[in-house]
Amino acid sequence: MGRIARLCIATIVVVTVTGAHAQAQTHSQAAIELPVVIHAAKGVEFDPVALLADAQRYFAGAGLRFHLQETRSLPDDLAELRRIRDRRGLKRYLAPHAINVFVHSAIHDRTPSRSTRRAATRAGIALSGRLGGAHIPAAGRQPGTYIILRASTRGLTLAHELGHFLGVAHHRESDNVMSYGPRRTRFNDRQLRVFRATARRLLRTRALRPQSLPGRTNSRARSSAELPASEMFWTKRASGSVDSR
Ligand SMILES: [Zn+2]
Repeated sequence: MGRIARLCIATIVVVTVTGAHAQAQTHSQAAIELPVVIHAAKGVEFDPVALLADAQRYFAGAGLRFHLQETRSLPDDLAELRRIRDRRGLKRYLAPHAINVFVHSAIHDRTPSRSTRRAATRAGIALSGRLGGAHIPAAGRQPGTYIILRASTRGLTLAHELGHFLGVAHHRESDNVMSYGPRRTRFNDRQLRVFRATARRLLRTRALRPQSLPGRTNSRARSSAELPASEMFWTKRASGSVDSR
């Protein structure tokens, strides 16, 4: 396989929103910035910038700001996650000291977790055998969890998984982002306080480090750094999501 072909296959966009970072510092000194690295295989259709911006708005009351530090490519065979083993295997691609979000065209879930089943029962929805997102433990890593997400979900699903990442479990009220209700719109004040406290702790302990040093991009990401986002992703929305731990 030629060099050009290899570069094409391994392609994903590297987006660093440096301008947005400077703006946050200027306008909101109290905002806590958290670094995010998004991973996807070529051909997984979504817009990482729009997705993160859509999730971001739910956290305004916590004074948190998610910064898209980098996007990285995954091997083509990880476009879909078919087995639980595949989800856990993503651990090898983790960028240290960032919130890692792995985006896939589909996430199969033949054996839903107890947490998923309980939340679905509470919301009166049937499980489809596919996940919208999940929050996965990564023992021995900093931070100790990561997020997987279906590409066709909205920022609401990412906000729900970020809620887990920041220390909050499922919630009974159907309008709460941490429920599976049909009209989820908000976090409550207690959850927002937990998010801010957790974010501070993660930064203090250096489990998260904003603005990571250069050289952390993998070879696949570096090879395609010059490609614009519009060549790789486009936004595709669909309703409905179910997650699990
Ligand atoms: Zn959940």
